[in-house]
Amino acid sequence: MDLMLSDEQQLIVDTVRRYVQEEIVPLEADLDPDAGELHPDDQARLIEKTRQMGFYGLDIPKEFGGPGIDVTTRALMAIEMSQHRAGLYNPCYGTFGGAGLAQLYEATDEQKERYLFPTLRGEKKGCFALTEPSGGSDPARAIQTRGVQDGDEWILNGSKLYISGADKADFALVFARTSDDPGRNGVTAFIVDTDTPGFHVRRVVHTLRSTHYATEIQFDEMRVPASNILGELNRGFAIANDRLSRQRIPYAAGCLGAAIKAQEMAIDWAKNREAFGGLLAEKQAIQWMIVDNEIDIRHARYCILEAAQKADRGERFRTEAAMAKLVASEGSGRVVDRAIQIHGGVGVTKDLPLERWYRELRIRRIGEGPSEVQRLIMAREILGGSFK
Ligand SMILES: Cc1cc2nc3c(=O)[nH]c(=O)nc-3n(C[C@H](O)[C@H](O)[C@H](O)COP(=O)(O)OP(=O)(O)OC[C@H]3O[C@@H](n4cnc5c(N)ncnc54)[C@H](O)[C@@H]3O)c2cc1C
Repeated sequence: MDLMLSDEQQLIVDTVRRYVQEEIVPLEADLDPDAGELHPDDQARLIEKTRQMGFYGLDIPKEFGGPGIDVTTRALMAIEMSQHRAGLYNPCYGTFGGAGLAQLYEATDEQKERYLFPTLRGEKKGCFALTEPSGGSDPARAIQTRGVQDGDEWILNGSKLYISGADKADFALVFARTSDDPGRNGVTAFIVDTDTPGFHVRRVVHTLRSTHYATEIQFDEMRVPASNILGELNRGFAIANDRLSRQRIPYAAGCLGAAIKAQEMAIDWAKNREAFGGLLAEKQAIQWMIVDNEIDIRHARYCILEAAQKADRGERFRTEAAMAKLVASEGSGRVVDRAIQIHGGVGVTKDLPLERWYRELRIRRIGEGPSEVQRLIMAREILGGSFK
């Protein structure tokens, strides 16, 4: 495994770091500490800038017009992009563009015209509706939303919970049970326009996250054309799982970015703050917290780079991506916690970004597959096929 950055990667990392420090952080000084958006003028100006940098649409595959950045370089960029107050859930306020729902790259040409391309142009927004009140860790068994065929249409009834951004989405990728199979072979993915009669956002669910609220959705006799099935009938679960491993790598990298910044802040504070006649940095208890932070940070970095490099080499990287997600989300939570402790009272004020990272990192141990599910994924591979 190569831990050295190539000259090109170093240049990209330096460029993104400068962008965050010079363009994003100064704007945040004038925003509400819980803000999720920039002023529209700043947003437009910065999007123009990332376009000129050649980084706009970072996650769009090359064949769809994206810059075609490899997984390792993308992870290195994600580490930099999250190093500001809103960075965990809104890295650089979306000024590097979105890629839309990854699953839509498998859509039919007609579906791509209606959903994928408008999303890439920034004209439409989608949401991903898998989790239900009956559970999200094991969605293949938990899904109770039912789809019943009626001629050229399917009628969906049921509900979804914790769906991010359904209140603002133009369409949703909805997973419903369409056969008697109680597991993964009975689930179909439907692309549903959110203005379809019977699609109700029942409530907005507020969580530890400052923005990007989750929602509860209800489907009442909702009719969806059969042409809106994504992929094959009863094979929707594979679509849900597909690309998830790859997404776990930048997700983990985002956690690590916040931890790296928190550690920088903790070191700076410890070297300048005095107590009991000396600097905090001279106290062994503080030194050990700084060292433990460094161990968590390096551990996460190695796991992320290992997963990313395997992905780039075309090797299987499911266990490595699960490990990266788990190690980075859990370790970064510990780092920010220690950084707050080192700062004392100011650490929990909204004058600093630490309290927001602390809250939002807690969700990262649950979202995109909780730690326990990541352990399950790894256990299956490590122990072999019979221990499922
Ligand atoms: C802010 C937020 C945003 C979200 N956004 C979306 C979204 O956009 N779309 C979407 O579909 N979902 C979304 N989710 C849902 C998220 O994916 C689920 O919360 C997650 O998968 C866990 O499901 P659950 O909450 O139902 O927990 P449960 O499945 O009820 O599990 C409860 C706990 O038990 C643990 N557990 C489960 N099985 C085992 C086991 N075998 N061994 C040991 N422990 C186990 C779990 O890890 C978890 O800690 C979001 C959640 C949050 C909090």
